[in-house]
Amino acid sequence: MSSVKHDVDGPKVAIVGAGAVGATFAYSLLIHGLTSQIVIIDVDKNRAEGEAMDLNHGVPFAYPTKIWAGDYSDCEDADLVTIAVDKGQRIEQSRLELAEGNFQIMKQIIPNVTRYNQECILLVVTNPLDVMTYAALKLSGFPKNRVIGSGTVLDTARLRYLLGEYLQVDPRNVHSYIIGEHGDSEVPVWSLANIGGIRLKDYCPICDVRYDLDDFNKLFLEAKNAGYEIIKRKGRTFYAVALGLTKIVESILRNENTVLTVSCLLEDYLGVSGICLSVPVILNRNGVKRVIELPLSENERSDFQKSAEIIKNVAHSIGL
Ligand code: NAD
Repeated sequence: MSSVKHDVDGPKVAIVGAGAVGATFAYSLLIHGLTSQIVIIDVDKNRAEGEAMDLNHGVPFAYPTKIWAGDYSDCEDADLVTIAVDKGQRIEQSRLELAEGNFQIMKQIIPNVTRYNQECILLVVTNPLDVMTYAALKLSGFPKNRVIGSGTVLDTARLRYLLGEYLQVDPRNVHSYIIGEHGDSEVPVWSLANIGGIRLKDYCPICDVRYDLDDFNKLFLEAKNAGYEIIKRKGRTFYAVALGLTKIVESILRNENTVLTVSCLLEDYLGVSGICLSVPVILNRNGVKRVIELPLSENERSDFQKSAEIIKNVAHSIGL
């Protein structure tokens, strides 16, 4: 199946990396009917072709969508290019330990994408997420609003799910964010967590739930370590992240001005500059429209700054 040019109008998304995350993301895009074209690119061309064939056979049950295994020239005219490659994650490696190997892959991929497309939005999923997002920003030379990482969108969803279960509230109505690194140093923003506009500590007594920060911190640890726990059991995580990526793409393609905790370049944000990290941002057709400054507590601010230092050190250690 060679690279094909499709004369199709409508949104186009390129996915580099046809592994568990890339393929599930393509599937999610298809069943949400968000794009007219999905091109899948992988160094393992057979794998990309197999995924494209399998997905195409689902088109009659979903939405008209052209899906094919392509090469970098197919990134031309893509609205979004997602980077979901990996050198091969081992369970004992932390996300930060993966930096060197995946940075080498990013050095190959990003110039290949930008050769054919200077206007797209780059959406990074590859871990360690914040360092790879920063790498994509530097390697592409794109403006900061057009380079984002999936960041703590997934971690935040995990925490909202767990809090929803604990409080017996629809997780869509639980507003609690995790910011900072997508990984070990991430920070829960308890001081601003709310349900129905009521801060968590005031909500609990109203609804006959014990407010115990130790309990909530246990839920946070469960959310933070969920990736490791899932990988221990099934080797990969891909469903929830694929849905998170779909939400990010929807916010961008539909110009929704959605608030999501994606990773992006921070400049003078609560004492943090010159690194990509997750905080709530407004996302629309231009990518990051605005970074929202959170009124954090002293401890949260200090933990967030520590998270930034950790990411910076890793970025520096690989020459970024
Ligand atoms: P995977 O091993 O299943 O797939 C990786 C794919 O990348 C493979 O198909 C491989 O052939 C391809 N690849 C490797 N080098 C390449 C190159 N130079 N050019 C093109 N393709 C290349 O991995 P996965 O489970 O799909 O995960 C992908 C990445 O997403 C990993 O870094 C993983 O840690 C990360 N991830 C991030 C989140 C998040 O929330 N940010 C969640 C889950 C996974």
